[in-house]
Amino acid sequence: MSTVLAYLEDTYKFTDKAHIEYVANDERGDYCVLDSTVFYPQGGGQPSDIGTIEAKGVQLTITFVSFVDGDVRHYGDFSSVSLEKGEEVTLYVDEARRMQNAKAHTAGHLMYTIVESLDQNLIAVKGYHFPDGSYVEFQGSPSFENTETFIAEVNTKIIEALNETSRVEASLITPEELAVRWSNIPNNLPPGKPLRVVTIDNLHPTPCGGTHLKSLNELKSVVVTKAKRQKGNLKISYKFE
Ligand SMILES: [Zn+2]
Repeated sequence: MSTVLAYLEDTYKFTDKAHIEYVANDERGDYCVLDSTVFYPQGGGQPSDIGTIEAKGVQLTITFVSFVDGDVRHYGDFSSVSLEKGEEVTLYVDEARRMQNAKAHTAGHLMYTIVESLDQNLIAVKGYHFPDGSYVEFQGSPSFENTETFIAEVNTKIIEALNETSRVEASLITPEELAVRWSNIPNNLPPGKPLRVVTIDNLHPTPCGGTHLKSLNELKSVVVTKAKRQKGNLKISYKFE
């Protein structure tokens, strides 16, 4: 069975009950798999959540979370308690880190969605939404002539978006429905299957499995700092607060 990804429902749900499925280990160490989790497993350019799992009154520190074949693996030292299948546990996600990651991710989406709409030759292919050194890589040849002018244009659009009361929404649509709303979609989406997209206000929806803010109001600023060619892609770096 696969772990239910409860974090997809609500970025702001930091605690939840769940049940042990099994405990095992891999090259990273010991991990436990639950029937459902609010812990975000590292991926899609977003860092792993950390936190604690309380089992039989014992606090177990979770240092890393990954997603493997449908299972979410919560890594930690479980030697102080025996965890049997079906055991109810309480999950506590580190709130500050989750919110910092959500800010970084939403800031990255805001920036790249604006870049894509200003220059339709560019398609975002990779995001690195870690709080330090955040960037997005784009495929395609930019149609702008002057990088500094383009960066200034993007930053102006970002400020405009931050000044509006912009909602951020995650929803499920098919790639076909997405294509109706935005012609420039990545070509690696599985056809026919529901796809989770994140939509910021009136900007186009973008595919994503991350945890996002509810509103841009939670961001003080997002600023593009530089854009440079790297291995055939355009890498645009950004800062946020
Ligand atoms: Zn994303």
